Amino acid sequence: MNTETNKSVILKRGKEGSLLRRHPWIFSGALMETDAELQEGDTVRVLDSKGKFLAAGHWQNGSIAVRVLSFNNKPLDEQFWYDRIREAAALRRQLRLPSGENTVFRLVFGEGDLLPGLIIDWYNGNAVVQSHSIGMHKNRYDISAALQKVFKQNLQTIYYKSADTLPRSIQAENEFLLGSASGCTVTESGHLFEVDWITGQKTGFFIDQRESRKLLGSYSKGKKVLNTFCYSGGFSVYAARAGAEQVDSVDSSAKAVEMTERNMNLNMPDGYQGTSYKDDTFDFMKETGTDYDIIVLDPPAFAKHKDVRHQAVMGYKRLNEQAFHRIKPGGLLFTFSCSQVVDRQLFENTVRSAAIEAGRDVSVLHYLTQPPDHPVNIYHPEGEYLKGLVLKIGK
Ligand code: SAH
Repeated sequence: MNTETNKSVILKRGKEGSLLRRHPWIFSGALMETDAELQEGDTVRVLDSKGKFLAAGHWQNGSIAVRVLSFNNKPLDEQFWYDRIREAAALRRQLRLPSGENTVFRLVFGEGDLLPGLIIDWYNGNAVVQSHSIGMHKNRYDISAALQKVFKQNLQTIYYKSADTLPRSIQAENEFLLGSASGCTVTESGHLFEVDWITGQKTGFFIDQRESRKLLGSYSKGKKVLNTFCYSGGFSVYAARAGAEQVDSVDSSAKAVEMTERNMNLNMPDGYQGTSYKDDTFDFMKETGTDYDIIVLDPPAFAKHKDVRHQAVMGYKRLNEQAFHRIKPGGLLFTFSCSQVVDRQLFENTVRSAAIEAGRDVSVLHYLTQPPDHPVNIYHPEGEYLKGLVLKIGK
């Protein structure tokens, strides 16, 4: 599809400030005029009130009206998609991704790779592509062509998985754009994981916890570890391989518990101490003992929108308070939030008030975030979605 465009939107006078500061979103309230022919997902040129070119991007009905792809007045053609994907791949190569140790990584992270609305995850020669905007959906074949041109024979599969991530106004089918593999085994920091991108959550695996899992491993030898919201057992595997005395895992999804068991067995062929429980973490914590050395709390985003932020904060507080009660003196809590609308400060304040309620001495050892294959565009600080703390719990 040719994505060159003659369609345009015109900003109200004085509304060009955020674009001049290179923020990649334009809100609908900033628009004075939109082309009568515009359809959702179209590529548009953004002009200031005097008709001067400012940016080009994808237009969509909604509060974010334009997601900016480029501040240059060049066509958004085949070459554009090729260049962007090639640059994203080059950054990952600088990060030594892929390598023998790591065959799974995020190849494109939306705004951080100047491709707002697009996620591409790499699973050992297979790419899972996820659109969060209608514009990216409309460009999926350009993206697929660019991926194949950049990776050539090193890429076997492109699975397009956007049915659940696009706005309801569009019906998208999940489909293969190349090959037909439904899953594979990947390596993360030398640990093995089976990934099924068709039936798995999100694109199949939580790639953003690579470095935090490694850190957990470094503290786990001889310890009794509880990994809640375990999904496919990422943290559990690192703890067990590092010599934890016992590793218990909890997830409310039976499929997740099954994946955890499978990945634990794959990495610990001689067996390990510990149990994977299918349970609600809040319920589990009420009933479990209080002698864990380390607890991991990595819940799903409790808030996806600002209007439910307060509820989410109460959820994080209750969860962290429960964990504080269940850790031995001298133990550690690895606690995370991946809610974009709960910023680092709010998260820390929430954890602090949980510590006060629990009446424990607590010190912060590490401030954690997402790894560099999830880069944050400095003009779009909203891209820093993953916040974590490692806390030392005293009496
Ligand atoms: N820590 C994981 C990723 C967590 S994703 C990793 O490193 O891969 C969040 C997980 O929480 C999902 O697997 C989901 O099934 C599970 N979940 C959601 N609500 C839950 C609840 N109330 N209790 C237990 N698990 C829950």
